[in-house]
Amino acid sequence: MSSTAASISKLDDKTRKKYVYYFGEGHAEGNAKMKDILGGKGAGLAEMTNIGVPVPPGFTISTEVCTYFYDHGKSYPPDLRDAVAENLGRVEHVVGRKFGDPAKPLLVSVRSGARASMPGMMDTILNLGLNDETVQGLARSSNDERFALDSYRRFIQMYSDVVLEVDKEHFEHELFALRDKAGVQTDAEIPADALRELVGTYKKIVREKTGKDFPQDVHDQLWGAIGAVFGSWNNQRAITYRKLNGIPDDWGTAVNVQSMVFGNMGDDCATGVAFTRNPSNGERKFFGEYLPNAQGEDVVAGIRTPLPISKAQVVADEKSLEETMPSVYAQLEDVYKKLESHYRDMQDIEFTIQSGKLYLLQTRTGKRTGFAAVKIACDMVGEGLIVPRAAVERVEAGQIIQLLAPVFDAKEKEKALKGGRLLGRGLPAGPGAAAGRIAFNAEHAVQMAKDDDPVILVRIETSPEDIAGMHSAAGILTTRGGLTSHAAVVARGMGRPCVVGAGALKVDYGRGELRAEGHEPLEEGDWVSLDGTTGEILGGKLPTKPSEVLQVLVENTMKPEQSEVYRNFDRLLKWADEIRTLGVRTNADTPNDARTARLFGAAGIGLCRTEHMFFAEERIIRVREMILARNEEGRRRALEAILPFQKADFEGIFRELDGMPVTIRLLDPPLHEFLPQNEGQISALARDMGWGFVELRAKVNQLHEVNPMLGHRGCRLGITYPEIYEMQVRAIFQAACDVKKDGIDVHPEVMIPLVGTVKELQLTADMTRRVAAEVIEERGVDVPVIVGTMIEIPRAALIAEQLGEIAEFFSFGTNDLTQMTFGYSRDDAGSFLPEYVEKKILPKDPFESIDTVGVGQLVRLGTERGRSANPKLKVGVCGEHGGDPDSIRFFRSVNLDYVSCSPYRVPVARLAAAQAELEQKAYEG
Ligand code: PEP
Ligand code: MG
Repeated sequence: MSSTAASISKLDDKTRKKYVYYFGEGHAEGNAKMKDILGGKGAGLAEMTNIGVPVPPGFTISTEVCTYFYDHGKSYPPDLRDAVAENLGRVEHVVGRKFGDPAKPLLVSVRSGARASMPGMMDTILNLGLNDETVQGLARSSNDERFALDSYRRFIQMYSDVVLEVDKEHFEHELFALRDKAGVQTDAEIPADALRELVGTYKKIVREKTGKDFPQDVHDQLWGAIGAVFGSWNNQRAITYRKLNGIPDDWGTAVNVQSMVFGNMGDDCATGVAFTRNPSNGERKFFGEYLPNAQGEDVVAGIRTPLPISKAQVVADEKSLEETMPSVYAQLEDVYKKLESHYRDMQDIEFTIQSGKLYLLQTRTGKRTGFAAVKIACDMVGEGLIVPRAAVERVEAGQIIQLLAPVFDAKEKEKALKGGRLLGRGLPAGPGAAAGRIAFNAEHAVQMAKDDDPVILVRIETSPEDIAGMHSAAGILTTRGGLTSHAAVVARGMGRPCVVGAGALKVDYGRGELRAEGHEPLEEGDWVSLDGTTGEILGGKLPTKPSEVLQVLVENTMKPEQSEVYRNFDRLLKWADEIRTLGVRTNADTPNDARTARLFGAAGIGLCRTEHMFFAEERIIRVREMILARNEEGRRRALEAILPFQKADFEGIFRELDGMPVTIRLLDPPLHEFLPQNEGQISALARDMGWGFVELRAKVNQLHEVNPMLGHRGCRLGITYPEIYEMQVRAIFQAACDVKKDGIDVHPEVMIPLVGTVKELQLTADMTRRVAAEVIEERGVDVPVIVGTMIEIPRAALIAEQLGEIAEFFSFGTNDLTQMTFGYSRDDAGSFLPEYVEKKILPKDPFESIDTVGVGQLVRLGTERGRSANPKLKVGVCGEHGGDPDSIRFFRSVNLDYVSCSPYRVPVARLAAAQAELEQKAYEG
């Protein structure tokens, strides 16, 4: 070669893209940081090799080849074949066997491995490299003909299923027939001769189904398998899994080709999976299962019942790995400790023991429940493995809510599911478990709850007049509505387990029945059980228990020293509080909710919805009188009767909040929501009020609106009926002054809802300041008067600069802002939003997680414009998004001061706010 040619070829080498990464013999070309191109499995194998964990040698074909494959009509980059051959040669050299060698064949596994774990979604092929000749070499070199034949028949089955698309049922059918014929229970007992015959039958099946012989060329086998694994990235299962877990379609999978080790070569062999700590409760105990004399897929397939790996796990008279192979177990312990301290996180590992020698086939960060996540993070800080900041980063914020929810006994639920008691599924709107007797309306729920048994309120949907029933219920089920439907919002606020939108179930109020296909109809008083964490609805009564965190914090039935769950919860959130700058308040309407939220760490109330106070039994009549009054004088009279109730409510809240800010929103919903709906209720009210039935019905009809959410509500009420808002402001400041007189600090903030024009805010703010000043003067006590507005109409965000000149704070009502920006009714969008998300018209339900590019921009713009007029303007958010971790990240990035969310979401928001802070700092460098 001329020197020019040599330098060009060198240049080629340098510029040639690297597609294949070798690992083996203590050295790997990749590492843990290269997940994007090696996939999780490939990066893990490389990293384990580098830190000296025993891993069978092999190589990873990068995810970039997958991208190339799909971009180029399912073909490969030109250099790939050479690179694979070169790396296969390295593996042959290390193992001392040759691929396709009839005397000492090298066998390999071919597995998928994407950047994010997608368990069981894509394809795997084991024992590749076996053919009619090499199987004999394997029999001779392993001294075990039976084992070799068994490996061959497994390979034919797997390869035919995955690559040749011959249904595995054809093979299984023959295998079961053979077991029967041989009179044995398990595959392991089938003798060699019968297996030889089976291999022949399998090959015949392949010929019949594909018209070709089973491939005998090992290189054809290898490329067939590589193509199938890349192809499996786009199988239906994988596509669905990606959709459900938000994994982008263009990531692609890597392919790992690795020399085989055998867990099925005799009694000194085994295969297993383990977690370095318990993934369901986080206990610091090595936890796992293994199968002696078996191959990896046997553990996953669940055909044989696996055995516990440690003595501590043994329950019956099973033999643990610790007892059967103590020295390998000791090695495994060393390895898991090494892995855990290297990765500084709980690992999920796969291992194989071949002839008494341990090999690791996989390690990855283990998935865990919220309980386990919190405990592991706190324990690892205690062990000095991680710093508190890392603990805060690694617990998924949404998961912490699991620590608050009552739970079903796991074994009982499993039994019920197996027993066919699942009636259906809905959206998991309020986490936790609840079992109770069915009540089909709120009144019955209240009544029935007076008895000993808990009640489940079952409705097609709920409305504000169901509040009392919802409060009395242990759980709420609706067959219509989404995650921001009335039922969902209120249930979360109350911390009630709740399942909404269970469309497959039918509620028939007329017959008083809940129907689920394939089940006897359930009647009022029958037992039903809801799992609000998963959305499952089961017939009958499943036992539950309250969470320990609640027992310590709210019920005082447990002491912190008695509950490790509570202590960890508390520690983690205190670390979060040290990091975050975003404030967390709560949406609470009663002293009780406010107390709960405070105990969960809320720094005040960001939204007190006063309308819920109007529904209590002795008040609703006055409210109705007020609405139906023939003139202002009648309205004022009724309002005077309501004032003491409102004042008492506010006093309770101010006392509970003890000087923390309390944002009170003046009346918001359309008035007809308070009116009787059916003829029975109208006639009862007519009697109470001394009206004629016909006259009252006419008045009710007159107040009916076609589009009430865009109708006579919010500040429009306060402007057309100023006496309503005046009464509320008077009640707020009377309460504030009286509480202050008792030496308790108060910090009321009055919030005007649904403002869309400057004049609306000007009028209502002026009125508020005037009435507040009058009360302060009358009472002779000084309390601060702070007036702000909700921003929930797009126009309000656009004119925020002018609003900022009047308001002292803004609170984005992102429920209405989303509704009005998209033009989607928040109560009806459930009928099309799931399909929109499915069809990728929207990435997520915008009522659940803020639409950052649309609605979010109104939040950003409104904040900036408001602050340009008033640099001291305090800005928060009080829509449901205030408790959603992704939305919180966005709100932090646009510099809001606080989020406000339901009491039970407060811990989630504290943690998410800290995580948002860390991300923001990282982004800003
Ligand atoms: C909102 O619209 O976001 C809000 C908090 O108000 P409500 O949900 O009561 O309409
Ligand atoms: Mg609103």
